[in-house]
Amino acid sequence: MQILVYAQETQSYVEALQEVAPHAKIFGAATLTEAEPHLEDTEVLFAWGVPPAVLARMPRLRWVQWLGAGVDLIVGQTPDDITLTRVVGAFSTVMSEHVFAYLLALRRGIFEMRQLQREHVWRRVIGPSLRGQRLGVAGLGSIGSEVARLGRAFGMEVWGLSRTDRGGEICDRHFLPTEMRDFAAGVDALVLVLPATPETDGIVDAEVLAGMREGSILVNVGRGNAIVERDLIAALRRGRPAMAQLDVFEREPLPEESPLWDLPNCYISAHCSGPSEPRLVCTFAAENLRRYLQGEPMVGIVDRERGY
Ligand code: NDP
Repeated sequence: MQILVYAQETQSYVEALQEVAPHAKIFGAATLTEAEPHLEDTEVLFAWGVPPAVLARMPRLRWVQWLGAGVDLIVGQTPDDITLTRVVGAFSTVMSEHVFAYLLALRRGIFEMRQLQREHVWRRVIGPSLRGQRLGVAGLGSIGSEVARLGRAFGMEVWGLSRTDRGGEICDRHFLPTEMRDFAAGVDALVLVLPATPETDGIVDAEVLAGMREGSILVNVGRGNAIVERDLIAALRRGRPAMAQLDVFEREPLPEESPLWDLPNCYISAHCSGPSEPRLVCTFAAENLRRYLQGEPMVGIVDRERGY
């Protein structure tokens, strides 16, 4: 059996996979040129950032393990007879910590304190506690459910929204996508952890934003497609939501001319809330390979129809 790992850093993957499949031929490639000689005979592809058109040139390909959680770049390009899996679980802790790092910093006034320090100003900054506030988590999957769990640990009331009623049991109140407006209007912090699909396109638009509470915070760590950015720019200028933390954008890198860069109530991170933790992703990939080799059900199989 031949396996190809296509990623920026391949050595740790190749080593972890070779342990599980000692007899397999495993090649690493960081560029298309390096991958080229291996395309024809590869049965299993572990990939991040591979040009999707390459799949059509892999006649023996049976399975693609995407080395990330969101498969929007690859799902529509993978032939139907090829199993596509994504990474589950490797990003939940670090992404929910990112969300709460910002929620705490914004609520407790940490950025303001830092600015006062720069100006040598001794002034008390006293922000509200998260305890008792209402957290809304849109997307209650592997990552969103951890955000919800941490919200509870901070004493927040947790509302959740998902496509089906899955995840409803971890929330105080559950909403469906058709109820997005009421959901968003009822929470103090709205956190989006949604996959990019045609259904999540622009799920947060001018109407949803206009209904958000005074003082509310919007966080997006899912995908940029979920928010209509021009509507958000107008909404942030009006101060509702009061603040936004955006890790993902309609276009990435965020274009230099985007007004979001300079809005004082917009806090930008460069799609790094869920850095690939190679160690965790490797462990996940190796376990899925073990399952594949032993004919056991793999974890993270992508449902083509849903798109995630
Ligand atoms: P999961 O597939 O585990 O969960 C997806 C959740 O979204 C489910 O609760 C699902 O509902 C819900 N959902 C899907 N479509 C809709 C919709 N139209 N309306 C409402 N809810 C919907 O995904 P993960 O939690 O593992 O990851 C979520 C996303 O986070 C990824 O798709 C990826 O895009 C993004 N991500 C971002 C990273 C970053 O660095 N910023 C890093 C890693 C991931 P249901 O279960 O009912 O179908």
